[in-house]
Amino acid sequence: MSAPTLDPTDVKQMLLKVADVIIESEEMLSQADRDLGDGDHGLGMQRGFTAAKAQLEGLDPKTVAEVFTTTGMALMASMGGASGAVMGMLFQSGGAALGANDSLDADGLCAFLQGACDGVTNLGGAKPGDKTMVDALAGARDKAEDIDCETVSEALQAACDGATEGMEATKAMIATMGRAKTLGEKSIGHPDPGALSVSIIFKTMSDYANQ
Ligand code: ADP
Ligand code: MG
Repeated sequence: MSAPTLDPTDVKQMLLKVADVIIESEEMLSQADRDLGDGDHGLGMQRGFTAAKAQLEGLDPKTVAEVFTTTGMALMASMGGASGAVMGMLFQSGGAALGANDSLDADGLCAFLQGACDGVTNLGGAKPGDKTMVDALAGARDKAEDIDCETVSEALQAACDGATEGMEATKAMIATMGRAKTLGEKSIGHPDPGALSVSIIFKTMSDYANQ
């Protein structure tokens, strides 16, 4: 499948796949947070996406926005802490930018990414370069906007590439936000755990739409 657009049921299936892959990635995400923080990121994400999965399974979505905002609310309610708020906001603000559309196309994905970046930045104050998940999210937005995508599959591939580049770039950065801030230069060499999560999320979405 290389889909021009995704309908609400496709988007629901795509996010159920994201939930499964994040749940399976618990150990990798926990290790990344042991290197830079307190080691709880994998368990938090696993808890959040287990809750999101339960909500999504019972949803009969009429709009694509609904699927993303349901995910965001479940993450916020179940994860707690700074990362629960920012991860939840990513999906809620991104979803809110989609209005009442009953399909997700390339322009819709760009609107989602811009809404998500704005929501997370307004909430947490992190900018690109601060070594947070914002580096992966802004990378996804910039790449999807730069490439003139015709289909949502192409746009998701671009978002995946941009998120991965943004996550890779965090390895060379010194943390200035959150728990990793106290490590200073010792934070160099490790990827930011939240950026790793965001890169996994967009890789899984792209794999779903390009399978
Ligand atoms: P905690 O820091 O409470 O232990 P987690 O370990 O689950 O939470 O998540 C840490 C991740 O949260 C970081 O890797 C970073 O990407 C993200 N994060 C923390 N603070 C912010 C912020 N203000 N803006 C954006 N992302 C943030
Ligand atoms: Mg942590």
